[in-house]
Amino acid sequence: DRVLLTGISGFLGGHIALALLNSGFEVRGSVRKLSKAEKVRQTLSQAVADISRLEFIELDLSADRNWAEAMEGVRYLQHTASPFTLTMPKDRNELIGPAVAGTERALNAALSAHVERVVLTSSMAAIAYGHDKTRTTPFGPNDWTVLGDRPLNAYIESKTRAERRAWEIMDAAGRHDALATINPSAIFGPLLDDDPGTSATLVKRLMDGSVPVAPKIPITAVDVRDVAAAHVAAMTSPEAGGRRFPMGDSALFFIDAARLLRQHYPDRRIPRVELPDWAVRLYALFDRDVRDNIGELGYAKRLDPSAATQLLGRPLIPSEEAIL
Ligand code: NDP
Repeated sequence: DRVLLTGISGFLGGHIALALLNSGFEVRGSVRKLSKAEKVRQTLSQAVADISRLEFIELDLSADRNWAEAMEGVRYLQHTASPFTLTMPKDRNELIGPAVAGTERALNAALSAHVERVVLTSSMAAIAYGHDKTRTTPFGPNDWTVLGDRPLNAYIESKTRAERRAWEIMDAAGRHDALATINPSAIFGPLLDDDPGTSATLVKRLMDGSVPVAPKIPITAVDVRDVAAAHVAAMTSPEAGGRRFPMGDSALFFIDAARLLRQHYPDRRIPRVELPDWAVRLYALFDRDVRDNIGELGYAKRLDPSAATQLLGRPLIPSEEAIL
């Protein structure tokens, strides 16, 4: 069976491609420029026995070209491509526009081609933000991020709007059960090549001296191998249709992650001091990057990953191991 996998050049996309190829699927991976394909093929060929079941197609989330061709002979769609950056652009629409328009293009093309199941990489960002900060119960599949008057960062808004749009499109077509979403927290775990990507850059910054003190910002972590396995399971499991799968568990604060890393890498310049919240807020007055990312200062929320652990039939890899 053939799977169209958008965003195969990404950190998660590469791991999903491996999981699919190693489970015997044929994979058509999308890249923005075909010139990227050779590097992806080389990286993946180091970890799969038979790379001949991999092919590429050019797709851009913001362009109409090739979507119908991309779906030819495809039984399943894995839609992971979405703009993901740590630094928020001045224009929020640089993130939100392609995320939503790309979801529309991908899902409409999949519906026209009668694709059997669509798995969308959504995020904890679409579940657990904009809520009352006194809440202690874990966030589960029925929770949605509240996009209120005070705007959340553009990435959070992009993932929330994209996932909402996905369900609207499938519901309007009467195909609710043909969609499943995976909603991971911050994804860490083994890198397939020398590019740390967006999320592992957080860990890199904690270890290279560029973050001298740790703000009290929580990181809820999940291992990329689990997230990739869940994408494959949600594609084939009959019970997964129409459902959302939050992935991740309890949060660590930066300082806890730093302590963990220091135990294993004592020679690195890893922060030892937690910055008081007032100092972070003061700093944020002058730095938009910090301002965009401190909405959750001091607030460690929990996710309920039980739907995903049932789907996988095993507990998740501990967040400490994912970070290490
Ligand atoms: P990467 O930045 O490594 O991968 C993003 C992928 O999306 C790349 O393949 C990129 O292609 C592609 N992409 C981005 N914009 C466009 C566009 N306009 N047109 C076509 N392709 C585009 O990030 P991750 O692997 O970490 O993220 C993959 C997915 O997982 C995203 O949907 C992200 O929101 C989601 N996610 C990630 C989390 C994390 O902590 N990493 C947590 C929760 C969800 P190119 O190589 O050309 O840039």
